[in-house]
Amino acid sequence: MKSDDQLGMGASITRRDFVQGVAAATVGLSLSPMARAVGEASKVVAAEYPPTKTGLRGSHPGSFEAAHAIAREGRSFPAPAHFNEHYDLVVVGAGISGLAAAYYYRERFGADARVLLLENHDDFGGHARRNEFHQGGQMRLSMGGVHNLEWWQFSPTVKAFLDGHGVDVKGMRDNMQFAYGRTATHKSAMWFDEETYGVDRLVTDLALDVSGVAGDDTIDQIPISEAGRASLKAFCSATESVFADKSEEETERYLRSISYPDFLRKHGGLTDDAAQLFDKLLHGGWGVEMRALSAMEVLEDGLPGRPLAGLPPAEGRWDYPVAMWPDGNASLARLQVARLIPEVAPGTTADNVALSKFDYTALDRPDAQVRLRLNSTVVNATDTEDGVQVSYVSEGEVRGVTAKHCVMACYHSIIPHLCPALPPTQAEAMKYQVKHPLVLTNVLIRNTSALDKLGIDGLRCPGRLHAHLFTFRGINTGGFEHDLTDDGPVPVVFWGSISPPKDAVTVKEQLRASRAIMLGLDFEDYEREVRTVLDGLLGPVGFDVEKDILAITVNRWPHGYAYDYLDLWDPDWAEAEAPHEVARQPFGNITIANADAAADAYTHAAIDEAYRAVQELPG
Ligand SMILES: Cc1cc2nc3c(=O)[nH]c(=O)nc-3n(C[C@H](O)[C@H](O)[C@H](O)COP(=O)(O)OP(=O)(O)OC[C@H]3O[C@@H](n4cnc5c(N)ncnc54)[C@H](O)[C@@H]3O)c2cc1C
Repeated sequence: MKSDDQLGMGASITRRDFVQGVAAATVGLSLSPMARAVGEASKVVAAEYPPTKTGLRGSHPGSFEAAHAIAREGRSFPAPAHFNEHYDLVVVGAGISGLAAAYYYRERFGADARVLLLENHDDFGGHARRNEFHQGGQMRLSMGGVHNLEWWQFSPTVKAFLDGHGVDVKGMRDNMQFAYGRTATHKSAMWFDEETYGVDRLVTDLALDVSGVAGDDTIDQIPISEAGRASLKAFCSATESVFADKSEEETERYLRSISYPDFLRKHGGLTDDAAQLFDKLLHGGWGVEMRALSAMEVLEDGLPGRPLAGLPPAEGRWDYPVAMWPDGNASLARLQVARLIPEVAPGTTADNVALSKFDYTALDRPDAQVRLRLNSTVVNATDTEDGVQVSYVSEGEVRGVTAKHCVMACYHSIIPHLCPALPPTQAEAMKYQVKHPLVLTNVLIRNTSALDKLGIDGLRCPGRLHAHLFTFRGINTGGFEHDLTDDGPVPVVFWGSISPPKDAVTVKEQLRASRAIMLGLDFEDYEREVRTVLDGLLGPVGFDVEKDILAITVNRWPHGYAYDYLDLWDPDWAEAEAPHEVARQPFGNITIANADAAADAYTHAAIDEAYRAVQELPG
């Protein structure tokens, strides 16, 4: 293993920008020491431009401490001294869903309605987060969370919403010049690291995923046991179903009852070390390891083994018709904000949103109809006879506002702690939602010459923390234009989740353990990890980790994808009895949005749920 010095850990990239953004403001005297500590961590200079911050982002320090104090430690904050602002609507959480709720509220109750959005992070958009880099001269964009629009699944409500924001999905698709995660010119590859496999080795033409299984010569290069390689060869060349004596229904029922790794070992004949190669192949797409997924779920995603299960070959999934902005769906959140608070980004349209300048100081102006307040963690929402009282922690103080209505567009698992009067069955149903942790680390590298020498744009690293990485050369939509062949800096996306320990058995145990590890790692841990990978992979062809890494932004999402029911862990609920349906019931003047309310981790679900939540508010 290389030392920190050899990995360039001391090299001069911008570090820990959040800390640099902390202002020295006075702290409310009425607070407990705990509240003061949380408050200290949440004080941020209002004029910052968060998309350019590097270091530990996503769930950044200062954003979660107040919520964790309530939910994990059972602590409570004192009541605010005053409830001295009043609104028609308070929205808790300024992700896509919360922003959409504000839009629908004004549609239903009129543009005169006064709306306040409270958001615990220092940026809006929730998971739809923009990462903007200028370290190499020209601006480079990448997504810090949500990638793309799954437009083919849109409901009429979502289609109308996007039309209303000027988004032309077909036009975006026509402008897509880059298949993210994979470009046509270079080959698929896997990289095996010394720490896990005893040797650093790049094997090209190897995917083991939907883009294809591997030939014998390629498998011979994989540094696992001889028996493991032989088992993999047999598995990759198998063409006959092992369930010929079962009906289609019986086969499907069975495949939904065993995990994919069990299928690989039992029916694919793989040894443990060969089966391990698949463990993290869907880490980014599902936010869990394979052991949490049924064989059917994985095979339906097109991964290897379909002939053994009697299924036809998978259609090339990478051909799927992506519609995407250069910062992912952050551009949608920006469009939403520009629509709600035009002063923030005058003149912004779907055609220029990626380049539009956003003035964060205009987000929360007293004279505006809609205000968006960052760094504000809601700690209580109480339904009253004539509205809702909402308390939140910001700049070291507990503050209070009242409103006629409140839409909770935040994570469901926190809602019972914010609304202790919620009926117990509803509170229990909320807690069923344990989100899938995800991490997306953007590393801006000086150029791709080392990757080009190896002939790769992306690869799988089955032994490393981020099991997938790919170059993100830029998407020419939303007004952004970037010559995809230029030899300037390029973000490399390190993508996936964090593996839980083996003794975390149930899926919820796995998700919670993974989240705990994610939160326990500091920026240097992630930095060391990406430097180790880039050094081992690219060092031999001239990449200098000390000089060629220009910036690192770690977007960690301990509360990532909404929990969607899984074959191995969840029953088939009767209609209206699934936890998300019980959880999203209105509660007086409070209604419930967020993708959690659909148990479906998609942008369109977040919008649909916002629409429902606003329609359910009392008139
Ligand atoms: C890494 C990643 C990649 C994804 N990729 C895709 C994709 O490609 N396509 C797709 O359709 N979906 C994707 N998703 C799913 C994504 O969750 C949804 O698309 C959508 O953005 C969810 O929006 P939301 O508003 O429901 O939730 P969120 O984005 O989670 O927004 C909720 C907001 O509420 C805030 N909040 C929570 N508690 C409080 C509190 N007490 N006080 C104040 N604020 C609070 C949260 O911090 C957050 O900002 C991805 C998710 C992740 C994490």
